[in-house]
Amino acid sequence: MIDLHTHTVFSDGELIPVELARRAAVAGYRAIAITDHGDFSNFDLIIPRLVRVAAELGDAWGITILPGIELTHIPPAMIAAAAGEVRALGARIVVCHGETLTEPVAPGTNRAALAADIDILSHPGLITAEEAALAAQRGICLEITTRKGHSLTNGHVARTALAAGACMVVNNDAHGPGDLVSPEMFRKIALGAGLTEEQFEQCRRNSEELVKKALSS
Ligand SMILES: [Zn+2]
Ligand SMILES: [Zn+2]
Repeated sequence: MIDLHTHTVFSDGELIPVELARRAAVAGYRAIAITDHGDFSNFDLIIPRLVRVAAELGDAWGITILPGIELTHIPPAMIAAAAGEVRALGARIVVCHGETLTEPVAPGTNRAALAADIDILSHPGLITAEEAALAAQRGICLEITTRKGHSLTNGHVARTALAAGACMVVNNDAHGPGDLVSPEMFRKIALGAGLTEEQFEQCRRNSEELVKKALSS
């Protein structure tokens, strides 16, 4: 199992990176990306510290740890610059916090994120067909989430992504140990979003591909 969207005490998560990595390994995850909430004030605080420990933590606990960031509530006009800056700092997985129904994310965030150098648009809410087509064209994955609240639009995201041919990944957006769901719950939530078994398997392959790409970057 892979979760490419997790949080630590570097933002609003409960655990420090070493414990999150340990908990994820014990829960059966073979890779996670640590993607704390970031803006221009803290990119340089978070990313170099994750880069410094990722490989060692991974070796110690037998899990792949990818240093990343979740661009969060960045004004849409600044998202492209933010993505460039976090890549330069060493972020291997760049998530952008999409237009979830449960937070006042600025309209235009989904579109601006899909035009920027990101890997995953998280919880994109009521994403439009045009935005999903842009995701497909740019090879950016749309997220199906196990997280309460953000998951309210999973069914819409799945349907819209499939219609546009956009790829999807399933993530936990884990903020604490209880958010690292079991393999069975992970699968059930994907099926609950309307995916078939085969479409869920494709999501898993998409996550594998992102890990491979991140490790070779
Ligand atoms: Zn959070
Ligand atoms: Zn998040």
